[in-house]
Amino acid sequence: MSIQTPLLRAANLTCRFGGLVAVSDLSFELNRGEILGLIGPNGAGKSTTFNLISGFYKPTSGEVFIDGVNVTGKPAEKICVHGLARTFQHSSLMRGMTVRDNVLIGAIGSLRRGSHKARMVRTEETAEMLGLSDYLDEEAGTLPHGIQRLVSIAIAFATRPRLLCLDEPLTGLNQTEVINTLKVFERIRTEHGASILLVEHNMKAVMQICDRIVVLHHGKKLATGSPLDVRRDEKVIAAYLGT
Ligand code: ADP
Ligand code: MG
Repeated sequence: MSIQTPLLRAANLTCRFGGLVAVSDLSFELNRGEILGLIGPNGAGKSTTFNLISGFYKPTSGEVFIDGVNVTGKPAEKICVHGLARTFQHSSLMRGMTVRDNVLIGAIGSLRRGSHKARMVRTEETAEMLGLSDYLDEEAGTLPHGIQRLVSIAIAFATRPRLLCLDEPLTGLNQTEVINTLKVFERIRTEHGASILLVEHNMKAVMQICDRIVVLHHGKKLATGSPLDVRRDEKVIAAYLGT
């Protein structure tokens, strides 16, 4: 695909649950190397959008393109092959397993034909990237909340995605953990060339790290633009930022 093709394109996505329209005619693009924020009030449709683009839900209508390839309706494991990995709003790690074995799940997923050694190397490189090397042999469920959030990101990043979709990764983190995690996001972009789609309520962090932001409200795109544009947008202030 050409350099101009966006890495992700959501085209007129709609998702209905019975009478409820969770996402309504939503279109946006994410370019290579971009960190794109997806923000909005609770219930705006952010997690549903993640589920639509990562293949966990099928849209009622509309399409999803990854690097120009139409992946609409493909199951999550197929979409993963196109280089998309995601975390969940509510932690999805295996609490009874070690950090190493958790991260290994991601490594195995993307190195299906790789050797055990290759998978272990990938696991250790991923842990290093996320600052988790000291925790590899700890049982994941016993670790502090902030570390568990990082383990969830590590599982996704172990697949070495082109696009990493993070659903509220900073929730419950203290300020030091937030700063460290934002540094990790920057490294994921600069050292691995990955793009990030970030759903997050921590507006200071969003404004600091995102290149562009899409604002959702009642499932619809309310605004899109640079952090500065969005922060000054009267509609956004009324619907979300002013509250
Ligand atoms: P956000 O992540 O922005 O807080 P969600 O995408 O989780 O919002 O939810 C958007 C709307 O869709 C909410 O009204 C929510 O209750 C509804 N919803 C989300 N998932 C489902 C589902 N699986 N079944 C029915 N309704 C759902
Ligand atoms: Mg959500």
